[in-house]
Amino acid sequence: ILDGKTALVTGSTSGIGLAIAQALATEGAKLMINGFGPEDEIASICDELGAVHDGADMSDPDAIERMVARCGKELGGPDILVNNAGIQHVSPVEEFPPEKWDAIIAINLSAVFHTTRHALPGMKRKGWGRIINTASAHSLIASPNKSAYVAAKHGVAGFTKTLALEAARDGVTANCISPGYVWTPLVENQIPDTMKARNMTREQVMNDVLLAAQPTKQFVTPEQVAALAVFLCRDEAASITGANLSMDGGWTAA
Ligand code: NAD
Repeated sequence: ILDGKTALVTGSTSGIGLAIAQALATEGAKLMINGFGPEDEIASICDELGAVHDGADMSDPDAIERMVARCGKELGGPDILVNNAGIQHVSPVEEFPPEKWDAIIAINLSAVFHTTRHALPGMKRKGWGRIINTASAHSLIASPNKSAYVAAKHGVAGFTKTLALEAARDGVTANCISPGYVWTPLVENQIPDTMKARNMTREQVMNDVLLAAQPTKQFVTPEQVAALAVFLCRDEAASITGANLSMDGGWTAA
């Protein structure tokens, strides 16, 4: 269903972004992937998906501009922009390292603005575009010790709504997908810090912190998030815009 479309997925060398890139490629989209990782792993993802990789650092607005321009020159896109790159740091406000704050705001929020401002003119010219932002349940509610992440994700939700209004007459939709806890390296890596911050064992963090929030007691899977992203790219989803779509096992219903 996506033959002839080009997708740019930021942070797609791992986790949710990789699953979204795989799903879009399966539907026939040409892919530009982005993100860090060992060269051989990235090369094998490119082989698997027939994708081009751009290693732009999402905290660098100039690198973002070059990446989007390259996507236009080499692949004629992006028609689909998935802003997915993200990082996390867990610490109380008064101990939160300011440089971590700045990095999270840059990568999780400002990068969404920069990719979009460069990609939008091409989408408007074609009269078709899809902007899908991986937000989070933390775009709707808060948890302690995640101030920068919660602030950035609330920002992404607000930016997405504004964008949806501005692009409403241009065939371009803008939506957030807001997962609860998805089992990816990002979640796995925050377990040690949460153990320290809350003086808990690994099992206590998994059950009493992570899955405590999710009424289903199941982690969301990257493939479930990817399936929703694919749906948002379909023509049937043309009227879904400015939405923040929760996929959180009931977390934000509570
Ligand atoms: P992940 O750590 O598995 O993947 C993150 C990706 O972003 C990787 O490809 C990494 O290389 C890339 N990345 C990190 N910093 C970058 C930078 N400066 N420039 C370019 N790329 C960079 O994480 P994930 O869990 O798949 O998270 C993906 C997105 O989903 C994030 O925005 C995250 O906030 C969001 N999210 C995750 C969960 C979860 O439970 N895992 C829940 C809700 C939202």
